[in-house]
Amino acid sequence: MLTFLSCMSDLKDLRVTLGLDDIPKKWYNLAADLPVPVPPPLNPMTKEPAGPEDLAAIFPPSLIRQEMSQERYIDIPDEVMENYILINRPTPLQRAVRLEKLLKTPAKIYFKREDLSPVGSHKTNTALAQAYYNMKDGYSNLTTETGAGQWGSALSLACSIFDIGCTVFMVRISFDQKPYRRTVMETYGGKVHPSPSPMTEYGKKVLAETPDTPGSLGIAISEAIEVAAQDPSTNYSLGSVLNHVMLHQTVIGQETMQQLDMIDVSPDYMVGCVGGGSNFAGFTFPMIGERIRGKNETKFIAVEPKATPSITKGSYEYDHGDSAGMTPLLKMHTLGHDFMPSPIHAGGLRYHGMAPMVSLAADLDFVQAVAYDQTETFKAGMMFARSEGIIPAPETTHAILGAIDLAMQAKESNEEKTIVFNLSGHGLLDLAGYDRYLNGSMQRSEKQV
Ligand SMILES: *Cc1c(COP(=O)(O)O)cnc(C)c1O
Repeated sequence: MLTFLSCMSDLKDLRVTLGLDDIPKKWYNLAADLPVPVPPPLNPMTKEPAGPEDLAAIFPPSLIRQEMSQERYIDIPDEVMENYILINRPTPLQRAVRLEKLLKTPAKIYFKREDLSPVGSHKTNTALAQAYYNMKDGYSNLTTETGAGQWGSALSLACSIFDIGCTVFMVRISFDQKPYRRTVMETYGGKVHPSPSPMTEYGKKVLAETPDTPGSLGIAISEAIEVAAQDPSTNYSLGSVLNHVMLHQTVIGQETMQQLDMIDVSPDYMVGCVGGGSNFAGFTFPMIGERIRGKNETKFIAVEPKATPSITKGSYEYDHGDSAGMTPLLKMHTLGHDFMPSPIHAGGLRYHGMAPMVSLAADLDFVQAVAYDQTETFKAGMMFARSEGIIPAPETTHAILGAIDLAMQAKESNEEKTIVFNLSGHGLLDLAGYDRYLNGSMQRSEKQV
């Protein structure tokens, strides 16, 4: 088998690795290169641009500065850098030769291994940075929401490293579907509540109106913000959507660019799944910056679920980030802050809005979006697991199907296209979804928008 594979390509092309010295020293800020400014958040009362004071009740000063920064590069603190090693950075770029063979495509498919973090996804890239800055600015607790549990796990780990408390509101449907995620969070010292919960005024209100609700990220965000806003030693931390989260994730794309350079590849496509947009942004923004400066012709494809198609079906307007309407208004592709998505297995993609920076990049046509149903994406996830050996997260199966579709188009036109996708996470704690797929009981999402 190995002999056969190495005939097809160089071994170094099968897995491209970097050394510890190659971990990026700075985060990259696409705001510096976009041809128009990123629309600012608005104060929900006055509808005027929100100032740092509007965010100070729930975010530390250092992260507010990053949120509003126009600088192209921002230094990564040594304390965060050291812990990037702990989460297995730099991660390899790997070639999916067995999948290519299975598809009989002339296309070359590569994937970036963000599944190798100890909690299994890219989310630790920003969790470490956010826990660090909160600790450094003197806060002793963080609250947050989690959908599938990936973000809650990442933040619980990061808080344990920087020795601050972590309270997680976990969307009820995921709390029920993914009991072991809760165990992961609790192992790292996080406190986990199913959302909506009786812990907050907003949670009580939702429970009174809809006792059987599966919950949503929007509701869980409202609960986490309510707790943080009331306690001066507690801040709130968001795992996606905001500009500083996109920024922290750019270590993925900067490493990928170094790796592609090492094998002399300029990709035709870069593909990622999008929930709030952070793994996609982190993976593509450094390359989109180069494209704006005329250095590549790469196309950037964002893949979303048909159950929450915020870019393909939402409108581009100011909306709240949470269900209760407590957050500043963000200009984004949105399905409406009271949108209740179908309970699909890709819990990390069940969000009504899209990051303002990804939304703007899509509006300017730097990013194209497609949407698929979970029954199709799990089929792609199975093909990937059986050919490449990694069981991908349900979210990530969207990116894989995006890449497979492009590889099949390349087969149709008989072109040797190069496709690189971000393997945002593994699915070893999402086996309920795979079980349903295997026993034939997985439904198309009830509500397709
Ligand atoms: C959270 C998550 C996503 C979706 O969030 P983004 O902010 O869009 O990246 C995708 N994949 C995995 C594995 C996740 O945990």
